[in-house]
Order: sequence, then structure tokens, then C-alpha cells
Amino acid sequence: MKKISMPNPIAELDGDEMTRIIWAMIKDELIKPFVELNTEYYDLSIQNRENTKDQVTVEAAEAIKRLKVGVKCATITPNLQRQQEYHLTKLWRSPNATIRAALDGTVFRAPILISKVKPVVSCWKRPITIARHAYGDIYRAVEYRVECPGKAELLFTDENGRELSRQTIFDFKGPGVLQAMHNRDDSILSFARCCFSYALDVKQDVWFSTKDTISKDYDQTFKLLFQKVFDEEYREAFEQAGLRYRYALIDDVAAKVIRSEGGIIWACKNYDGDVMSDLIAAASGSLPMMTSVLVSPDGCFEYEAAHGTVVDHYRRHLKGEKVSTNPLATIAAWAGALKKRGELDGNAELVSFAEKLGRAGIEVFEEGYLSEDLAALCDPTEFREMPDNERLMSLIREKLTEMMQG
Ligand code: NAP
Ligand code: MG
Repeated sequence: MKKISMPNPIAELDGDEMTRIIWAMIKDELIKPFVELNTEYYDLSIQNRENTKDQVTVEAAEAIKRLKVGVKCATITPNLQRQQEYHLTKLWRSPNATIRAALDGTVFRAPILISKVKPVVSCWKRPITIARHAYGDIYRAVEYRVECPGKAELLFTDENGRELSRQTIFDFKGPGVLQAMHNRDDSILSFARCCFSYALDVKQDVWFSTKDTISKDYDQTFKLLFQKVFDEEYREAFEQAGLRYRYALIDDVAAKVIRSEGGIIWACKNYDGDVMSDLIAAASGSLPMMTSVLVSPDGCFEYEAAHGTVVDHYRRHLKGEKVSTNPLATIAAWAGALKKRGELDGNAELVSFAEKLGRAGIEVFEEGYLSEDLAALCDPTEFREMPDNERLMSLIREKLTEMMQG
């Protein structure tokens, strides 16, 4: 078979532990036999972040901006325990946070659905994608624990020190608690643009929800800015694509999503998105099956699995045990990145390969060969085998070869 050419590279961000092993297997067994794989390689393993004082993460983010497409392996975000384990001089920042900030991006998360694992919500036929605004609100709030009677005020002074607003929040007669949070128009506008361009990319409707009936300035700002971006920049393209944008109250959308067939993008404020993405993942069947794409407002895409480095599998693997890790979300990340590269370059062969790569693993699972995490969830009559990582990769490779020949 002649290998598919790939004239332009993507940024490849390697990572840690079990997912680093799966990463190499995917490249060697599922991609390189079929494609002249062309990547700019960045080693984001915790050791190399330590050695480069995290400069490698900054360079990787720059590469995604330059090349427009990146694919990332799961990486360790160090805490104190990890600092000791890996002898780190510093608690390096989460690579995802660094990259997200550099790209000013929005994260879209969607589950991979397979018929062997029934979603808890039986009417869901297509994945529900959560878009989470990853700036501000309670994540950057200022808080104060009130211990005695007194008055809390919300005060705003302009840059010349002129008082523009002073409102009483509450007259405390006894102990209580206070919180002040903020958001920025430019961040909300970027978020809206990311949501609408991603919707056009994947051809799905966008639902945006807040609680503007209660939060008459704060949430109202989100609602108005979304509408403004939609009307001025995206309405025409949505109409041409036959797509819809709708705004509704969060409780209303929550109820509608439960009764929907799925296949929509649900854009959420920061906290709502935090909660809803875990809820959708769990209700869809399996946390390891969540995919994740970071999209910047100027059209850069970084694909990854939502899960982490699967450290317990790694520890078992180091002891010489055979493990059965779910590779589908990591394969989906590679498939997404190669497909996007193909689309941007008008490389139809690469697009077609990427689609087959994304499907091959799912088809193997559909035949009843399931990794450990799903084996337990599958109806026993439909279950065939729990292959270890080597065997699972070779089954997927066989399936992909068949698809490429047929
Ligand atoms: P995790 O790696 O996602 O694993 C949590 C649990 O989910 C695992 O113990 C495993 O359950 C199950 N699981 C996750 N992915 C799986 C897969 N592909 N196949 C089978 N089972 C899977 O999260 P964590 O243990 O909290 O974090 C480990 C490391 O990953 C941490 O250092 C963290 O900083 C990092 N992390 C990175 C990212 C990222 O780079 N995007 C995201 C999250 C966490 P069982 O043990 O029951 O099999
Ligand atoms: Mg969460």
C-alpha cells in the first residue's frame, strides 16, 4: 500500500506514563504504516518540562498557533506528591492551562458513544458536546469570611480614582460570607466566537445557557454578547449551513438536554461547564471515552483525550502486569488532528484515512472486544474478550488495514 503523503506538519505534544506508551503504539501501529507522518515533536513529559524549565510547553503552544493543528498526550500536572516522585524543582503549571491561555481557547468535550455501553439517558443517540468558558467567575473570585456585624459594599472606582458605583451588598447582623467575581467582555466575545466557529466546523446547533432572569447584569452581559457575535458575525453562515443558535435559561436547557437525542453543543459558563462535562461523561457511559478539543477564536485546533495519564495502569505495567487501557479517546485525538490537517490542506486522502482511524477502534469495541473499563459495563451476552494493550492495538490495526483495502 502506498503511504498517504502529509506535506504540512502538525504539532505533536507527547506526555506521561500509561498514555505515553499508548501514544507510541498508536503512532507505530495505526498511523505510520499508512501515512508519511509529519509532525513537529514536543516532549511534554514531566522530566522534559523539568529539564527545559517548562519552556517546551511554551514552544509547543507557539507551534500549535503557527501550524494551526496540534495533538496532545495526557500529561502530569504536578502536585506535592508528584514533585517528590519525579524530583521536580518546581510545581510546574498545568500544560493545558498554559496552552489554553496562549491560544485564548475554549475546550469542547464530547463522549464517544458505542452501542455496547448504553447511556444512562436512553434517548441520547448522538454525543452532547460541552463548551466550557474557561475564564473568571468563581474561579477568580475574591472571598471574605464575615465574623462580625457590619456592612458589605460593592465599590467601583475608575482608573482616576473616581467612584462610579457603590452599592450595599448586605448589612450583616452576625457572621456570614462574601464573594466577588468578575468577567471580561473580550473573554466572553472570544468564547462566543469559538463556540460558533466550532459549531460550523462540526455542523451542530449551539445552545447557550445562563441565568439572566436572576443575574440581570452579570449573566445578561453573557447573553447579549453572544447574541451580538451571532447576529454580526455568524448568522448568515449558520443559515446557509442549516444550523441554529438558541439561548435559554440553564434550568430549561438542562431539562431539554435530558429529553433530546443529543448531537448539540451546549455552551456553558465556567462553573456550569465544569459540572456538566462530568455529568455528561458519566451519563454517557464512561469517563475514559471523553474526547476534548481546544479551539482558538482564530481557528487553531488542539485535540486530546480528556482523561489523564492513567497512573494506576502505569504502575501495574511497570510491575510487568498486562493491562487493558482504553485507547479510543487518544486515537480520536489523532484522528481529529489528522482530519483537520487534511481539511486545511485539501488533502482528501488524509481526511479519509483519519475518518477510518477514528472508526476502526470503535468497530473493534462494537464486536465485543472491550478494554477493562468497559468490559464491566457491557451486557455479558455481547461481551467477547478483554484484550490487553498489545492485543487490542493489533486488533485495531487489522480492522484499519481491512478498511483501507476495502
Ligand atoms: P486519570 O488518569 O484520568 O484516571 C482516573 C481513573 O479513570 C483511572 O484510575 C482509571 O480507573 C480511569 N481511566 C482514565 N482513563 C482511562 C483509560 N484510558 N482507560 C482505562 N481507564 C481509564 O486521572 P487521575 O488518575 O486523576 O490522574 C492521573 C494523572 O493524569 C495526574 O498526574 C493528573 O495530573 C493527570 N491528568 C492529566 C490530564 C490531561 O493531561 N489532560 C487530565 C486529567 C489528569 P481505574 O483505575 O478504575 O481503572
Ligand atoms: Mg470537573
